[in-house]
Amino acid sequence: MPKFFVGGNFKCNGTRESIASLVSTFNGAPAFPPSVDVVVSPTALHIGYVQDNLRKDMSVCAQNISTDAGFGAMTGELTAEVFTGFGVNWTLTGHSERRRRLQQRKRGHDENSDGVSEKTQLALKAGMSVVVCIGEVLSDRESGKTLDVCFEQLAAVKDKLLLEDWSRIVIAYEPVWAIGTGVSASPQQAQEVHAAIRKWLMTEVSADVAEQTRIIYGGSVKPATAPALIECVDIDGFLVGGCSLTADFIEIIKAIP
Ligand code: 13P
Repeated sequence: MPKFFVGGNFKCNGTRESIASLVSTFNGAPAFPPSVDVVVSPTALHIGYVQDNLRKDMSVCAQNISTDAGFGAMTGELTAEVFTGFGVNWTLTGHSERRRRLQQRKRGHDENSDGVSEKTQLALKAGMSVVVCIGEVLSDRESGKTLDVCFEQLAAVKDKLLLEDWSRIVIAYEPVWAIGTGVSASPQQAQEVHAAIRKWLMTEVSADVAEQTRIIYGGSVKPATAPALIECVDIDGFLVGGCSLTADFIEIIKAIP
């Protein structure tokens, strides 16, 4: 049984003071059970501080990496190599807030599944582990396309992966309608998709990868909702947004068995 995994995605939040205070809160938490890996994703500007000051049983994780690679004339970019040179060995890819424009025609970065696959490749090549985020928007769910959307997003990533790469992949199922809305997917809704993803891994990749890959849930996870979600057999942890900016993050980790 692989370890549980809990990620905290700070998104574009934090001042020097608020991040220092958050780190101090996290450092004061009781020891985590050995059954869980914990990572946090501050903004790139806050990563150095968090890395230097956060307890060592939590790792830092980038929120995004460049589609460029290496070092050089790439103004404004942060490549996987820049992160690993700093000792940052995890990144998220494919967060819906980066895929967003295509899905919602609003602010966003127009990332599509091919771009997410490319970034995932670049991260793996640089030695990082990757939390690949997938999930449907409300209209997809309402028209019965939830699994089609998730599988399309996963297939693009899988097509370029070697079998051994899967040991450095965590899949985060984050239904877009549940992100930042206060309305989490119900345990039944989440479990149904997680089980389908695991089955997809079994048929499309291998039984071993299906068993070993952590599939975590994200979308309005709170201390009150975490215990019932984590009881679901195919939910291996959480990707937490809003609640990762407060002591609630620790309460959510406490729900891990
Ligand atoms: P919330 O927990 O704020 O809904 O955000 C979830 C998320 O997007 C984590 O990546």
